[in-house]
Amino acid sequence: MSKLEQIQNLDNSYFMNTFGPRFPVAFESGEGCTLYDIDCKAYTDFFAGIAVNLLGYAHPRFTAALHTQIDKLIHTSSLYYIEPQAKLAEALVTNSCLDRVFFTNSGAEANEGAIKMARKYFFEKGESRYEIITAKQSFHGRTLATLAATGQSKYHVPFEPLPTGFVMVDYADASAVENAINEKTCAVMVETIQGEGGVILGGKEYLQELETICKKHGILLILDEVQTGIGRTGHLFSYQNYGIEPDIITLAKALGNGVPIGAFLAKQHVADCFKPGDHGSTYGGNYLACAAGLAVMDELLNTDLLEHVKQVGQYLLSELSKLGEKYPFVLEVRGEGLMIGMQLSEELLPKDICNLALEKGFVVGLSGGNTLRFLPPLIIQKEHIDALVICLDEMFKTL
Ligand code: PLP
Repeated sequence: MSKLEQIQNLDNSYFMNTFGPRFPVAFESGEGCTLYDIDCKAYTDFFAGIAVNLLGYAHPRFTAALHTQIDKLIHTSSLYYIEPQAKLAEALVTNSCLDRVFFTNSGAEANEGAIKMARKYFFEKGESRYEIITAKQSFHGRTLATLAATGQSKYHVPFEPLPTGFVMVDYADASAVENAINEKTCAVMVETIQGEGGVILGGKEYLQELETICKKHGILLILDEVQTGIGRTGHLFSYQNYGIEPDIITLAKALGNGVPIGAFLAKQHVADCFKPGDHGSTYGGNYLACAAGLAVMDELLNTDLLEHVKQVGQYLLSELSKLGEKYPFVLEVRGEGLMIGMQLSEELLPKDICNLALEKGFVVGLSGGNTLRFLPPLIIQKEHIDALVICLDEMFKTL
């Protein structure tokens, strides 16, 4: 039996079957944008562990920062002051339009925190507003409240009754949001680009209109930047592409480059609604997670990585678009920075293409709406992109 079959047998016997059959590979190590599987086969990574590994693998400064921290302390709980936590909070606040941070362990928890904060904000004001307007096709996480916020009913049905207080409207349609506002509405919560929904761009006008509508009605604008945040679109936070100032943003994924950490950030007057005892987390923002976050922020703020994302992102978009023009089954190529979707016609299964790409040594991903998703480490180079496009071209010719 091969080593992969042994792992598959263990997984089939002991792990809950929530992922179905996985892609038939087990990675063992990585360097730069290359992953190596247990048989030492190399793969160029265009998925970064679902928008997480922005610095790629075995990044020398990141790895060194983790080693240094592990040798000192991993965890104490937030009952005590934590230097890397305080410093990471400072780095996030001083580089955003937000004023306060709370650290979580995942994106779903960051969104849970944001939902609680929106409700508490109006509770403190003595107003009975608790309803949050979200968007169809959105994805906000797997906890009960974030499932309820997620605009995809396939995730809801088996877990009902879900927490109430969420209303879904069409994405990228600001008037639909305005029409849904009533005396119970406390916030609008959307992704700036819908990642799991199919790399669907809200667009500058929509997001600016949302900001205006929220201000006009005195409600909060929450942007879920779990997938788009931390450099993915060429800015530290993707809202910075649109000249807007949200009241709350949520982060996770790339913030720890693979070490689990999430965060929600809020404007001062909003954050003031949380009083001691209102929220907490045992692990959230521990030494290891915040050392990872600080090393990530250091790379983004003190190297030309964000500029690099803009340039290679543009290159990836244009090369994939050119490729798409050759094949009628490619319906659209769209995205921002290094978050690109290639929508395929219904007769093709993106999963089959991911499997073919894996065979040829490339990791690419899927998302909703029959879309291939490209979320490479932000350190990806033009040579990697050229190689990917040649590989996809060869594959597409045979389809
Ligand atoms: N929000 C968005 C936009 C996401 O893309 C995801 C995960 O894909 C989440 C929230 C949930 O994050 P997590 O899986 O870390 O809980």
